Amino acid sequence: MTAPETVDVLVVGAGFAGMRALHALRGQGMSVVVLEAGDDVGGVWYWNRYPGARCDVESYDYSYSFSEELEQEWRWNERFAAQPEILRYAQHVADHFGLRRDIVFGQQMTSATYDEQAARWTVTTHTGRVWDAQFLVMAVGNLSATKAPDIAGLDIFAGRVFHTARWPHEPVDLTGLRVGVIGTGSSGAQLIPIVAQQTAHLTVFQRSANFSIPACNGPVSDERDAEVKAAYAERRAIAQNSPSGLGFMPDRASAAAADPEERRARFEQAWAGAGFGFLFTYHDLLLDEASNATAAEFCREKIAAIVKDPRTRELLTPHGFPFGGKRPSVDSGYFETFNRDNVMLVDLRATPIRDVTPTSLRTTDAEYPLDVLILATGFDAFTGALLRPDITGRGGHSLREAWSTGPRTYLGLGVAGFPNLFVIAGPGSPSLLSNVLLSIEHHVDWLAVLLRTAVADGIVEIEATEEAQDRWVEHVNRRAQETLYPRAPSYYMGDDLPGKPRVFMPYSGGVRDYRRILEQVERDGYEGFALRRSLLGETVPVR
Ligand SMILES: Cc1cc2nc3c(=O)[nH]c(=O)nc-3n(C[C@H](O)[C@H](O)[C@H](O)COP(=O)(O)OP(=O)(O)OC[C@H]3O[C@@H](n4cnc5c(N)ncnc54)[C@H](O)[C@@H]3O)c2cc1C
Repeated sequence: MTAPETVDVLVVGAGFAGMRALHALRGQGMSVVVLEAGDDVGGVWYWNRYPGARCDVESYDYSYSFSEELEQEWRWNERFAAQPEILRYAQHVADHFGLRRDIVFGQQMTSATYDEQAARWTVTTHTGRVWDAQFLVMAVGNLSATKAPDIAGLDIFAGRVFHTARWPHEPVDLTGLRVGVIGTGSSGAQLIPIVAQQTAHLTVFQRSANFSIPACNGPVSDERDAEVKAAYAERRAIAQNSPSGLGFMPDRASAAAADPEERRARFEQAWAGAGFGFLFTYHDLLLDEASNATAAEFCREKIAAIVKDPRTRELLTPHGFPFGGKRPSVDSGYFETFNRDNVMLVDLRATPIRDVTPTSLRTTDAEYPLDVLILATGFDAFTGALLRPDITGRGGHSLREAWSTGPRTYLGLGVAGFPNLFVIAGPGSPSLLSNVLLSIEHHVDWLAVLLRTAVADGIVEIEATEEAQDRWVEHVNRRAQETLYPRAPSYYMGDDLPGKPRVFMPYSGGVRDYRRILEQVERDGYEGFALRRSLLGETVPVR
């Protein structure tokens, strides 16, 4: 172990959240260091290099708003940018704002321990380096801790095995190979159409069917670019005031009550151009069962019109949960891919995986010879990256203990018992129910003001109170119960891993309401946080 390096703020993660936190906090005179496990900036876009990886929020919205210069100088090439372009953007931001000088790459944080006497965190990485920081900002991402299926024999497979979120940096040539893909969530839906064009044969192993909406992607013309840039501030304001941060204002009418022909016309229009925004065609699609059923049925009809083979069509058609309750994929030719002669769909519900041999994958009723296996199995979402390191707060209690029945936060930002620790876009905030970039910027801006105010006031310790946290958890649950989300098995509900507590993780009240709540908390002098000053070596309450 080396001698600790001392900073005001230690940020963990150099994705969009960590980069933004570094820029904002450094800009107000604090010393900041970012620890990043990977070798470069970009987070999700550094790791997820699988073919077809792209954003499903429009590039112009899935980008930083804090610098007008950046907004104006960056030129997006596609409506929904692919991973290489988004990574280039992140790298450009890092260069433009000189971020790399304060980022230490290749450092996986393994533990963080709070020293109550000093009101500071001691943070250790896997290489034994140690940092001593007053504030610890966890910008570790909701979809960054990967999840691999527990399949017997995976380690003896003689071919190559790839996880979509750990895709190699060098090109992968799948030409002429027999490839298996396990998983048909968002990553699988993006990857499958592209891989199908390269391989001799593709076997897709599906556990459950999900809804998927066409991205309607395309190049951005110079005229379009100029049009967006001429009114960027208005576009951002609309996004901030929309429920999702995507800029879509849902029709206030009820889908169920709408005239069936008009409704169909609206759905057709959204299907042909809105991408993920299809989910917001009507405001009550995720609030009312009958309204939801109209959208679900429309999507099922689309699948029926595309997929030719009746058995495959049946397997690809989602049933038994509300449309959108599980995040729908946004695809480019996903369902069409199953009409190809070299693509086959295997139903893992009916015939689960038994094991992997050196040359094949075996289910309970068949053996599939494979050269390559792709795990599109996703993430330990929301809590994975926060719970993998040993985080120890007040009284020696660990975050794992504190969250043993599910994550508990105040505003998704602070955790009772873990003073001076803040989470960016964490559980209990809109996070994955929103344009995450907008939510990240909102959190960082709010936190920057809190820390500036605190430091100026001589505050050394900021901690969410148990009461405020209980109230917030109750509020998050109540808002979730008003929606149809809890009725679907999804990562929102902790269904992504066996044994994970089943609680609703994000805040479903919308980004606009959430912003108003944070503004009110700030106006009320950070109500719900205990603020303490240091007096003769003791931390004493300010109020
Ligand atoms: C394929 C894919 C597509 C997506 N598309 C969209 C989209 O279109 N729109 C949208 O809003 N959201 C999308 N998301 C969600 C995405 O998570 C967010 O948009 C955003 O990138 C999150 O940024 P972040 O900085 O919070 O986290 P991340 O980008 O996940 O970055 C976290 C970083 O923290 C590092 N880290 C984690 N733990 C440690 C540790 N212990 N020590 C050191 N470093 C650590 C990781 O290596 C990573 O680099 C997508 C996610 C994926 C996986």
